[in-house]
Amino acid sequence: MRCAICSRQAKGFGWFNARLPRTNPRRYSDKWVFCSKRCLNSFSKIMKKTDVHMIDPSDLERQAMRSCLIPLGEYVASISMERSLADYSQEEVLTLIDVVVTAYQEHMINEHERIAEKESAFFEERIARQTQTASTGVPF
Ligand SMILES: [Zn+2]
Repeated sequence: MRCAICSRQAKGFGWFNARLPRTNPRRYSDKWVFCSKRCLNSFSKIMKKTDVHMIDPSDLERQAMRSCLIPLGEYVASISMERSLADYSQEEVLTLIDVVVTAYQEHMINEHERIAEKESAFFEERIARQTQTASTGVPF
């Protein structure tokens, strides 16, 4: 099972929708598993603030792939721009894969944390506005 945020191996961190009764099958999903408390927390914040609305993962995945371009280019340049991939040693290919996978995972985690923070600010502002309106007795 893969972490829903960064695609690393999931390690016993799970999430369920506590707003739904235990009998509702939508309360749980086998996709809501995580590699770390960090990934679980960013997912949990987003789900709490967005009323259990998911973010479009394909957009994030495309951005994460783009975020690999610079580290990939830097690593290739550090080896030599003249050598073809066929001339790389196995160790160099493994390092190249590691550079790309690490950049991808970091982007996915950072982006989820950023979205969770942005959503928090948005909802806090809405709640503050509602509270203000309620205290003056003026409807929306
Ligand atoms: Zn993760």
